[in-house]
Amino acid sequence: MKFNKVLTVSTWYDRVLIETVMEKIVPIIPIRDGIIFPNTDSVLTFGRPKSLSALESSFAHARVVAFVLQKNARLNEPTQEDLHDIGTLSHIERMIRSDGEINAQVKGLSRVKILSFEPHDSFLLAKVIELADEIKDTEEVKALCNHLTNQFRKAINFGKSVDFLTFMNIMSENSPSELSDLVASVLDIKPTEKQALLEMTDVKLRLEKITEILTKELKVLDLERKIASKTQERFEKGAREVMLRERLKTIEKELGEGDEGGEIRELLEKVKKAKMPEDVEIKAKKEVSKLAQMNQFNPESGYIRNYVDWLVSLPWSTESKNDVDVKNAEKILDDDHFGLKKVKERIVEYLAVHKLAGKKMKSPILCFVGPPGVGKTSLGKSIAKALGRKFVRVSLGGIRDEAEIRGHRRTYVGALPGRIIQGIKDAGTKNPVFMLDEIDKIGADFRGDPSSALLEALDPEQNNAFSDHYLEVPFDLSNVMFVTTANMLDTIPPALRDRLEIISFSGYIQNEKFKIAKDFLIKKQMEAHGLTSFIIEVKDDALKFLIDHYTREAGVRSLERQIATIFRKVARMIAEGEKKKVIVDSKKVEKFLGPIKFRSTIAEKKDEVGMFTGLAWTEAGGDILFIEVALMPGKGQLILTGQLGDVMKESCQAAMSYIRARAKQLGLAESFYQKIDVHVHVPEGAVPKDGPSAGGAITTAIVSALTKIPVNRKVAMTGEVTLRGRILEIGGVKEKVTAAHRAGVKIVILPKENKRDLEDVPKEVIRDLKFHFVNHMDEVLGIALTKNLKKKNLAQAMESEHAFLHAPSPTQAD
Ligand code: ADP
Repeated sequence: MKFNKVLTVSTWYDRVLIETVMEKIVPIIPIRDGIIFPNTDSVLTFGRPKSLSALESSFAHARVVAFVLQKNARLNEPTQEDLHDIGTLSHIERMIRSDGEINAQVKGLSRVKILSFEPHDSFLLAKVIELADEIKDTEEVKALCNHLTNQFRKAINFGKSVDFLTFMNIMSENSPSELSDLVASVLDIKPTEKQALLEMTDVKLRLEKITEILTKELKVLDLERKIASKTQERFEKGAREVMLRERLKTIEKELGEGDEGGEIRELLEKVKKAKMPEDVEIKAKKEVSKLAQMNQFNPESGYIRNYVDWLVSLPWSTESKNDVDVKNAEKILDDDHFGLKKVKERIVEYLAVHKLAGKKMKSPILCFVGPPGVGKTSLGKSIAKALGRKFVRVSLGGIRDEAEIRGHRRTYVGALPGRIIQGIKDAGTKNPVFMLDEIDKIGADFRGDPSSALLEALDPEQNNAFSDHYLEVPFDLSNVMFVTTANMLDTIPPALRDRLEIISFSGYIQNEKFKIAKDFLIKKQMEAHGLTSFIIEVKDDALKFLIDHYTREAGVRSLERQIATIFRKVARMIAEGEKKKVIVDSKKVEKFLGPIKFRSTIAEKKDEVGMFTGLAWTEAGGDILFIEVALMPGKGQLILTGQLGDVMKESCQAAMSYIRARAKQLGLAESFYQKIDVHVHVPEGAVPKDGPSAGGAITTAIVSALTKIPVNRKVAMTGEVTLRGRILEIGGVKEKVTAAHRAGVKIVILPKENKRDLEDVPKEVIRDLKFHFVNHMDEVLGIALTKNLKKKNLAQAMESEHAFLHAPSPTQAD
């Protein structure tokens, strides 16, 4: 090591030192675990007698001491061998004495090497020599300085904690040695590493080493930052809960209202009260004792508490009285619902059998199938009311994960029981009427098959010990009365469907809706809106007007919503000071609900060429479908649009083949198709349509377009067609016929084999409609087309391309 006489120091102290002393005798103060770097200010606390005496003695004279790091921090009275031999000459700026301690503000001046120890009684005294810094390559050193400052700034941004004054000092203009010492003093390293930096007098080497250390620190900071942001989320919730619980406990303690043991006692009490089966109780007690032994800060304790809470809150032995009075049940069903005669009968039978056979009979599960808003849910509620049991409803729509039914295992974070057990907890009794909605909408994927878990819950053979993954103990579901609902049967998994007793709800006709609204919905909504018949009256005409022009649905859900809208507006009028009774007539309906939404579709139409009304069956009940056909010059292509499904597309092709095969009888030239393209469109394109039952209607529309004979607008049909023109039986007659009636159709063509299905159709509907039951397409054409085919000779017209150009405009079609 080289001793240089020229020191690169800038304060006045330093200058004084340079001028006066190179070698000097100063008190040595050992430091256990820190380094005072030159050019830095620090505040230190001293307590050892020798250090205090050295400080006092020095403060009275030159105020200069040398701080030296102990080799072993634990030594209380280090001797000269126990000290490093390079330290820092420092000036004592200020001192405060308190209680046998001294707080001193010291400023590091320069590096010194201990040459020899001098004898002294009360503290260590030594002859030291100052070590000057060496600076060689200034350009490179400058670059190093810049880099170091940047790295330091970055570290601060990444969260390195440094007091503001030091930060300002580092960021201001500094000489390279000042900068290196300032940064070295705040590095996050061990004292011995800092000592190594102190011992380096080559400034360039020192800067390089410091940069290296700071870069490592930066990496750690960056990593910490990333980990922190990830873990923060995870821990925040848990930590908050622990904190809140702790706070609660402290408050309880302060109030003398409980303690650690209190909670456990309380849980055990709850376990006892829950009247669980014996094995479940054993399990619950085991969990509670696990909890009692656990450190309260252990996150596991929260999970266990949660689990025990679930166990104690289930109705293991709470049940509603199970005494069915069939007569009374029938009355309740009738009081709550209009119509639905067959459905009610079926339910009453079911209840009667249940009562007689009791638990011995493994009865099937009821499944209410029908469009939305026809009263499936509310009938379920009435059953519960009739039986004096609780009612719970769980929707299964969109479930794809088995765990939704059967729960997650407790090892999952945030695990919960499945929907069945959740429903039972909500019910609070072990024998509720449990409605599982939308069982036609459950799917299966890689997470398991929810329907198999559902089967286990529904199966009377095994549901007395239903196992939920979360609960881990079996629950007895055999007393639950399950009722399921679905919009359609097709999508219910077959294994599930086998267990179900299907009860079909078809839609209501206008008349039924009127009665439901008048006798039930209006009363219900009046109550809900705080209105009475003294304040408001809805005229019958207004109600009919509302049903005809503001709703188009199989059920009464939208009707109920519209009534609620009217009542809301009336309630507002009254709140705003209306004194007279409000009479709702058709005009008011229009005022409250805006312009008419639906007009009777068919009545306003003309008899058109190439257009026919088909009947469809959808999830929402029956509906009418307009089928449009346009011809244009082309090469015999069939163009199909309007979101038609595969089966419906095939129906179109079959229709074309049938027509080509019968061209002669239909009065068409044999090669009529060669120069034209036939475009079949079914509007309201956003709704996907499928099924074979529109075959007959499509064929009729194409024949009409080709022969230019208009179709009678009052006719609608449903029926599948074979290539030879035979009309085949279809499903959903009741819904389709009702929909036709709703839309103002007068004549309905049905396959002959469907005649028997008319039994289910309400009498009012049958009375208003004329029915034709057909076997063959020829009969259909005879009824639907406005002119007789045979009489009209179109042969010549067919030759001319022009004759085929006919496209009904969209406005006509609507
Ligand atoms: P779903 O469950 O079939 O979709 P909801 O049971 O929710 O239908 O019925 C919708 C509304 O219509 C309910 O307020 C219900 O009380 C009422 N409602 C449906 N059908 C009838 C009926 N036949 N008699 C009285 N109210 C009915």
